[in-house]
Amino acid sequence: MSMFCYQCEQTAKGTGCTVFGVCGKDETTANLQDLLLHATEGVSMYAHRARELGAVDPEVDVFAVKALFSTVTNVNFDPDTLKDLVLKATEMRDRAKRLYEDACGSAGKMPEKLNGPAVFVPEVTVPGMTAQAASIAITKRIDALGADITGLQELLTYGIKGAAAYADHAQTLGKQDEKLYASFHEALNFLTKPTPTVDELLAMNLKAGEINLKAMELLDAGNTGTYGHPVPTKVPLAPRKGKAILVSGT
Ligand code: SF4
Repeated sequence: MSMFCYQCEQTAKGTGCTVFGVCGKDETTANLQDLLLHATEGVSMYAHRARELGAVDPEVDVFAVKALFSTVTNVNFDPDTLKDLVLKATEMRDRAKRLYEDACGSAGKMPEKLNGPAVFVPEVTVPGMTAQAASIAITKRIDALGADITGLQELLTYGIKGAAAYADHAQTLGKQDEKLYASFHEALNFLTKPTPTVDELLAMNLKAGEINLKAMELLDAGNTGTYGHPVPTKVPLAPRKGKAILVSGT
C-alpha cells in the first residue's frame, strides 16, 4: 500500500505526500478518501443526469456535499468512518440511479448505460477498500493522462471540496441552494470523463470558482441569519494595552 496526496499547500517537498501526510494523514486514510471521492462521483453521474430530466433527491444532494467535505485536509481522518461513508455512497448511488431511471421512464427515454464509478462495488473492510484504492490512484492517472490533465482534474476536485466545506456548514444552518447542488453534481460527473481536454478542464475550473462564491454567499446568509451580523462588541476585560479578542470562523 502507498499513498499520494498533493491536495494542500503543506504537501511534502511541494510535490506530494507519499509516505505519511505532513498534516498527519496516514496512507489508509488517504486511500479511503480517494475511494470515497470515486464512489461519490458515481452518485453524481446519476444525480446529474436525473436533474437534467427534472428529478432531484435532497438526501442524495446533502450526502454528496458531506462526502466531499469529509475528504478535505484535517476534516476526517478516521478510517472506520470513511469506510462507512464509502458504503453509504454506494447506497446513495443506487438511489440516484433509480431516480434517474424513473425520470427516464417518465420522459420516454432509454437510460444511458454508465460505467466507472457508476458501477463501483466496494469491498466491505478497511483493508479491502485500501487495496481497491490502488486502481484509482492519482499516480495511475498521471501515468495515463499526463501531469497537466491530472493536475487540472485535481485543481477542480480541490476547488469543489473547498466549496463543499462552505455548503455543508450552510446546510447545517438551514441554507441550501438547488443550483449549487446541481453544480456540484455537474463537476463530479465531469471528473468521470475519461479523456477531458485542457479547454474543457479550464472552463470547468472557472465554474468551480463560481460554485465557491455561491457557497460562501450561502454560508454568510446562514451565519448572519442565525447569529446576526458581526459587530464590534465590548467585552468585560481588565484594560491592558495590546490585548484583544478575535472571534473568527463558523
Ligand atoms: S492533505 Fe495532508 S497528505 Fe495531502 S498534501 Fe496536504 S499535508 Fe499532504
